[in-house]
Amino acid sequence: MAAPPTERSFDVIVVGAGIMGSCAAHAAAAWGASVLLLERFDLLHQRGSSHGESRTTRPIYTRPQYPPMVRLAHRLWDDAQRDAGYAVLTPTPHFNLGPRDDPAFLAAVANGSAIELAPSSADAPAWAEAFRVPQGWAVARSELGLGLGGVIKATKAVAMFQALAAKMGAVVRDRAEVVDVARKQGEGGTIVVKTSSGEEFHGGKCIITVGAWATKLLKSVTGTDLPVQSVHTLVCYWKVKPGREHELTAEAGFPTFGSYGDHGFYGTPSMEYPGLIKISKSGGPPCDPDGRDWAIGTGAGGMAELVARWIDEVMPGHVDTTGGPVLCQPCMCCMTPDQDFVLDFLNGKEFGRDVVVGAGFSGHGFKMGPAVGKILAEMALDGESGTAAEAGVELSHFRIGRFEGNPKGNAKSF
Ligand SMILES: Cc1cc2nc3c(=O)[nH]c(=O)nc-3n(C[C@H](O)[C@H](O)[C@H](O)COP(=O)(O)OP(=O)(O)OC[C@H]3O[C@@H](n4cnc5c(N)ncnc54)[C@H](O)[C@@H]3O)c2cc1C
Repeated sequence: MAAPPTERSFDVIVVGAGIMGSCAAHAAAAWGASVLLLERFDLLHQRGSSHGESRTTRPIYTRPQYPPMVRLAHRLWDDAQRDAGYAVLTPTPHFNLGPRDDPAFLAAVANGSAIELAPSSADAPAWAEAFRVPQGWAVARSELGLGLGGVIKATKAVAMFQALAAKMGAVVRDRAEVVDVARKQGEGGTIVVKTSSGEEFHGGKCIITVGAWATKLLKSVTGTDLPVQSVHTLVCYWKVKPGREHELTAEAGFPTFGSYGDHGFYGTPSMEYPGLIKISKSGGPPCDPDGRDWAIGTGAGGMAELVARWIDEVMPGHVDTTGGPVLCQPCMCCMTPDQDFVLDFLNGKEFGRDVVVGAGFSGHGFKMGPAVGKILAEMALDGESGTAAEAGVELSHFRIGRFEGNPKGNAKSF
C-alpha cells in the first residue's frame, strides 16, 4: 500500500522513540507503510521511561482489561524475538504478597490471575524460603501454565524494535524535537510535523507517543488537557548476602515479585549485575520532565530507605541493606488518575482519525509495548484496530473522553 516515500513525506510519522513509539513504527512498517520515527534526544537515552536493564511482565492484573493485552503482547514479543534472532524476554514465575485484606491483592486472586498459596505448603517452591511473609499477609503466584511471566531487557527491547522497523524501511531520526503537529490547509491536506530546528515533514497519519512530554505537547498542539502526571522514581539494586547469590537468579527459578500494601514494592531475579538484585518502590514524587532533580529519593527518608525497610522485614536472610542500595537509576512514570492507558484519536485541528495518541502508561506499560504499538498503528492506518478486537482488548476503556466531567476517569468503576 505504501507510496514510495519522498525525503519529507511519509505514510506515518511517529513522534517519540521510547518502547511505544518504536513498537508503533515497527508495526506500521510491517503493515507496509512508509514510516518516519522522530526522537527528541539521542536514541536509547535515559531521560524518559523506557531505558534500563529490566522490566517485569506478568499475567497478574487486578483489572480485566489488561490480561488480554498481555496475551497479545506475548505473542508479539515472540514474533519480534524470532525476527530479530535474539531474545529480550526471560520467562520466570511471578510471586505476589501483601496484607490479606488488601483490595488489589484480593482482586488479583479473585479474577484468577493469581493463585493463593498456603503459608507453608509442602509444594511451595524452593525460592519461597527467601521471603519471610509478615503476620497477616498472604501470598499468591501466577498460574505457571499461562507462561506469561518474565523479565524483559528494556533498552535492548527498544533497540530491537527500532532495528526491526529500520530493517523494514522505516527512517529513524534522533535529535529531532517535534514542536507542532498540524493539518495542512485544504481538503485532504496531510499532517505537517514541525521540529524545533525548523524542519517540516508531511505524513498521511501521525502517532504521538512522547511519554512524560505528552501533556505539554498535546496542550500546545490542540489545547487538549491530558491528565497525565509524571513522577520521578528510582530503580535500586541491592547486594545479595554471600552464599545466596545463585538462589536469587532466574536460572535457579527465582520469580519476579510484587508486594501490595501502603506502598508497592517490586523486584526481579538477580540477572543484570551478578550478586545484585533489583528491588524498588513503585511511584514517586511528581516531577517536570524538563526540570528534574536527579538526586531525589536516595537520601535519608527517601524511596531507597523505604525499600530497605521492606527488605529488612520481608527478605532479611537474603538481601543486605547495610550501606543502602549499591546502584540507583532514576526513571519517570506517567500516571493517569485511574492508572489506565490513553489510546485514542486526538481531536482538534480537524485531525479526524489521522492523529493517534498513546500516553499515560502509568508504570505498567512496557510489557504491553508490542500490543500498544500494533494497536496504535492499526488505529492510524485503518481507523480502528482489528487486532485489539480479535484479542478481546476493549479500546473504549482507554479513551481520553473518560476524563470529561469526571477527573478520575475509570477509577469510579473499581
Ligand atoms: C522504574 C520503572 C519501572 C517500570 N517497571 C515496569 C514493569 O516492570 N513492567 C511494565 O510493564 N512497565 C514498567 N514500567 C513502565 C514502562 O517502562 C513505561 O510504561 C513505558 O516505558 C512508557 O514508554 P513510552 O514510550 O510511553 O515513554 P518514553 O519511554 O518516555 O518514550 C517517549 C519518547 O518520546 C520522546 N519525546 C518526547 N517529546 C518529544 C518531542 N517533542 N519530539 C520527539 N520526541 C519526543 C522522549 O524523548 C522519549 O524518548 C516502568 C517504568 C519505570 C520508570
